[in-house]
Amino acid sequence: GCVAQAEGEEIVRRAPAVDLVFGPQTYHRLPELLARVSRGASVVETEFPAEEKFSRLSGLAQPKAIARRVTAFVTIQEGCDKFCTFCVVPYTRGAEFSRPVLAIDQEVRRLAGAGVREVTLLGQNVNAYHGEGPGGKTWRLGRLLQHLAQIDGIARLRYTTSHPCDMDAELVAAHASNTKLMPYLHLPVQAGSNAVLKAMNRKHTVEDYIDIVARIRAARPDIALSSDFIVGFPGETESDFQLTLGLVREVRYAQAFSFKYSPRPGTPAADLPQLPEEVKSDRLQSLQALLGEQQAQFNSSCIGRTLPVLLERQGRYSGQLVGRSPYLQPVHLAKEGLKIGELVDAVILGIGANSLSAQPAGPSG
Ligand code: SF4
Repeated sequence: GCVAQAEGEEIVRRAPAVDLVFGPQTYHRLPELLARVSRGASVVETEFPAEEKFSRLSGLAQPKAIARRVTAFVTIQEGCDKFCTFCVVPYTRGAEFSRPVLAIDQEVRRLAGAGVREVTLLGQNVNAYHGEGPGGKTWRLGRLLQHLAQIDGIARLRYTTSHPCDMDAELVAAHASNTKLMPYLHLPVQAGSNAVLKAMNRKHTVEDYIDIVARIRAARPDIALSSDFIVGFPGETESDFQLTLGLVREVRYAQAFSFKYSPRPGTPAADLPQLPEEVKSDRLQSLQALLGEQQAQFNSSCIGRTLPVLLERQGRYSGQLVGRSPYLQPVHLAKEGLKIGELVDAVILGIGANSLSAQPAGPSG
C-alpha cells in the first residue's frame, strides 16, 4: 500500500527478511517482480507513472478473466491534492490523475458484455474526477455517471471515496436524476470539531459538511450515509470528541468506519505530541457504540420494506443466494429458479449481525 511505497528502502533496511516491496503504482508488474525475487534479488519497486499502469491493466481485463462476475470496481482516478495532515496518499500516489472518459467507457462496456451489472467507480478522491471527455472538454463525476448509466446491461453505479469539498452541484443532482446511481454514499468527515478539522487540513468545517448532507438528502431523501472517523488526533480534547459524537447524532449514519489515530511517517501530524493510547481507545469505544446503534437502527428500519437485491453469489446453505440491497447491505434469500446476476424485489424479513434476510417478492429485471 501507500506506506510501502513511501518507505520501501527503509523497510528492507530494517527488516532484511523482506524480499520485495512494491507500491500501488506497480502491481501490474507483480509477475516480473516475483521472477526477479526468485532469482535471489531483493527488490524495491515503488515508482511508476499511473497512466502506464492503467493502459497495461485494461489490456489484462479481458472478458474471459472476469466472466461470471456480477460486480466490478473500475479505477477512474488516482492521487490526491488535498494533503490532509494525517494521510500519506498525496506523497505516495502523487497529484490527482483522472482517466479519460473514453478509456472508462470502453472498460465498463467490456465488463457489461461479460455479465457485470454493478460498477463501483474508484479513486482516492473519486469526486475530484476531472477526466478528458470526447471533444477535449473536461468532465466531472456527475456527467461521467450520467454517461455510464446509458450502457446496456449496467443496472447499478456507485463511487467511492469522496471528499466533502468536491460534492459539486452536478454530482448532487445526479443523486436525484440518475436512477442507476445507488442511494448510498461514503462521505468521510473524520471529526466533528472545527478545531480538529483545521488541524487535519480537511478544508471544510462541520457546518459545510452538514450543509452538503442536507443538499444530498434533499436530492435523494432515502440516501444511506457512511463515513470515516479518526479519534484521538493530536490535540483532540474531550470537548472536541463530544462534538464528533454530536455530529454523528445529527447526521445519523447507516454505517461507518472508525479508527484510532495512528501516525504515518512523513506526514505533518506524525510529528505532533500524541494522545495517550487509553484515551484513544476509550473514545473509539464510545464512538463505535453510537455508530453501531445507528447501523442497527438503519437495518431495522428496512424490515418489512421491499428492496431490489442484486444477486451476487451462492450462500453458505443449499439454495441460498447472497446479494446486495441498494444501501450496500448483504441480503440472504432462498428460492428455486433465481440466478446470480438477477435483480429481484425482496421483502426484508430480519436482520443478522452483518446482513439482512429476505424473501423474494418477484423478479424485477
Ligand atoms: Fe488522504 Fe483523502 Fe485527505 Fe486526500 S482527501 S489527503 S486521500 S484523506
